Amino acid sequence: MARYLVTGGAGFVGSHAVLALLDRGDEVVVLDDLSQGHRAAVPAAATLVQAPLADGAELKRVFANWRFDAVLHFAALSLVGESMKAPMHYMAENLGNSVRLIEAAIEAGCLRFVLSSTAALFGNPARIPIDEDCPVSPGNPYGESKLMVETALAWAERIHGLRYAALRYFNAAGSDPQGRAGEDHNPETHLLPLAIDAALGRRPALTVFGDDYPTPDGTCIRDYVHVTDLADAHLRVLGRLETHGSCRYNIGNGEGHSVKQVLDAIARVSGRTVPHSIGPRRPGDPAILVAASEKLRAETGWSPRFGDIDAIVRTAWAWREAHPNGYGER
Ligand code: UDP
Repeated sequence: MARYLVTGGAGFVGSHAVLALLDRGDEVVVLDDLSQGHRAAVPAAATLVQAPLADGAELKRVFANWRFDAVLHFAALSLVGESMKAPMHYMAENLGNSVRLIEAAIEAGCLRFVLSSTAALFGNPARIPIDEDCPVSPGNPYGESKLMVETALAWAERIHGLRYAALRYFNAAGSDPQGRAGEDHNPETHLLPLAIDAALGRRPALTVFGDDYPTPDGTCIRDYVHVTDLADAHLRVLGRLETHGSCRYNIGNGEGHSVKQVLDAIARVSGRTVPHSIGPRRPGDPAILVAASEKLRAETGWSPRFGDIDAIVRTAWAWREAHPNGYGER
């Protein structure tokens, strides 16, 4: 049995990773200020420490209380649009907090670190699908802040021997197939939950952000990857870090779906159409982001269980239908 510190473990991807760790019998301490996460998303079997990452004294206490085999760092601001309005806030939160956390881990002798990184590193990518050798050039401050954390980790590796994995998620979506966790942001900005709620009549019609992109139907193409498959990637990468050096992986299904295709998938799965209208582009959105995940597959044996968009939508739909108020805390 191993023990892990999971920052942001009450959030969307973090909570699914916590479930995966608990399911295989590991011990989990979640560090989350619940500014975006939910107390109800943290299973009773995990220990929740409610504190902001910026609280250096609390960080020290956490590392003094427990000895961790690794840190999984999910806690971050993660909205492209918001980052275009408040770039310095993104730098301060994402880079500042991560640096403090890395420092605390090193001081405590915890030299394994898994970072939630992002496809937003690649901006308008040089090629599609995007492999790990594709040049990074973030098109927004969110992506830039994550790139800077990756750079900080590389220095921590070089100077302190910290071994890290930077996992560049493409579009995390879906929910725990057993219905134990799901996607609930406040405010909600993500396509699937907004579109599903619009189809259920719980929200106004969806605004599609632009239909004049250079894609076949004019709407943006993304690589939607199931959050449980992302969680599984974390388990595999943790294992690999014990026997290999640091690594960076792009994680997606390798298949892109346009916004309109996602709305079609919702209609197929649920039998309901998504009311929508076309609006202007959202600043910072690249036209196409699709991952090449061959490296992750080859080096860790990862293979998505929910590789097709309908399977992803099915779990997302089931959770939102069963949880009209999400975690119901707000
Ligand atoms: N999108 C949209 N309307 C919305 C929310 C999202 O058209 O109300 C589009 C967005 O432009 C992007 C895709 O859906 O092309 C996925 O956006 P999301 O915010 O879910 O994830 P991101 O790609 O920003 O990580």
